[in-house]
Amino acid sequence: MNEDPLQIAHLQLEEAAEMMDLDDGLLDYLKTPDRVMQVKVPIRMDDGSIKVFTGYRSQHCGVRGPYKGGIRYHPDVTMEEVIALSMWMTWKCAVVDIPYGGGKGGVACNPKEMSSGELERLTRRYTSAILPLISPDRDIPAPDVYTNPQIMAWIMDTYSIFQGYSVPGIVTGKPVELGGSKGRISSTGRGVAITAREAAKKIGVRLNNARVVIQGFGNVGYYAAKILSEWGAKIIAVSDSRGGIYRAEGLTVDKVLEHKVKTGSVVGFNGTKEISNEELLELECEVLIPAALENVITKKNADNINARIVAEGANGPTTPDADRILDDKCELVLPDILANSGGVVVSYFEWVQDLNRYFWDEERVNQELERIMVKSFNEVLEVKRELGKEATWRAATMTLALKRVVEAFELRGLWP
Ligand code: NAD
Repeated sequence: MNEDPLQIAHLQLEEAAEMMDLDDGLLDYLKTPDRVMQVKVPIRMDDGSIKVFTGYRSQHCGVRGPYKGGIRYHPDVTMEEVIALSMWMTWKCAVVDIPYGGGKGGVACNPKEMSSGELERLTRRYTSAILPLISPDRDIPAPDVYTNPQIMAWIMDTYSIFQGYSVPGIVTGKPVELGGSKGRISSTGRGVAITAREAAKKIGVRLNNARVVIQGFGNVGYYAAKILSEWGAKIIAVSDSRGGIYRAEGLTVDKVLEHKVKTGSVVGFNGTKEISNEELLELECEVLIPAALENVITKKNADNINARIVAEGANGPTTPDADRILDDKCELVLPDILANSGGVVVSYFEWVQDLNRYFWDEERVNQELERIMVKSFNEVLEVKRELGKEATWRAATMTLALKRVVEAFELRGLWP
């Protein structure tokens, strides 16, 4: 992240706290994580040398249930970043009202330069180091940047070896063969598509032929594009790290994917005009979905956004100083903690299925996801209506989350 994520997380919390007239002591309580563990992760590299990595696990606030959140493998992982990400998970779980608190973990490493064997040893050693913090009732990790179902399988196996029996509920985002959930892969994109569809309905935009622009054609961007186009929307532009493509008549999403798989990028797809990622964000459209990186909508370009709805597929795509500008420019902004929460919702379903040893079909997963996303969207709408223009969409969404966390805190009371 370019900007200080913990500072951004604190700013967003303070803004919502002010709206709610939250007690200063309670604000301090929520700014501080329940606990953070820093661990040494020494492993033997393929060349025989020993390399020591640093890992973290942050548990932000457990008043609503076990901690939940991904594990990130990236050279830039820091303790502050992990704390900020765990804080966002608290709000995200509260917005969609699933019984979890926020957690996040990470190891500072460069997985692109590591072999599969090195990654497996790193994962197993990291898991053993954070063992005192995690359990299906205490803290349930999941994938995040550069971690995947295979890495979740190694975490599950390591934890299970220490317990002496299989514990699928220790992580989510596992392969379906090991107790993963059907529909998990498409869940974040589906959640983005559902909230965008509801937002369109709310402001009187027909989804049929509505123009949709998507930055990032990875897991979130691809499934959001695919599902929205199945519902009749016209995907007029998509992009990846190499650049973007535009076609006013709309793109056939699966053909674009085929091209990306073949060539490594969406760029060069037949019959499209090449555009930059910056130009893409400023295209005239009904729905804009930033689904790649953080901090892409800033005070420099927010005023040029030409979308009626912005649905934040990525985490933190809008900087705090662009929030108000974006709110004034667009009719409806779906903040990340609402728009991209489909992934954690289906993670919750996965955990429920693991604990019950009873697995749902994909239709049920998608139906339950639809129900939760629509309900949460309407609840955010209601808070926004109550707070009026003064609150940005993000502040309204944060306020809903904060209310739920504070309610749980007050019911449980402060020990001793
Ligand atoms: P991914 O790695 O599958 O895809 C990322 C996409 O962004 C790729 O197409 C990549 O080419 C593109 N990209 C990278 N750098 C870019 C650049 N400079 N400009 C434009 N595009 C660029 O990742 P993902 O899982 O789709 O995640 C995308 C975002 O959504 C991240 O912010 C992630 O934290 C967030 N998110 C993901 C999930 C999930 O379940 N996958 C859940 C919640 C939030």
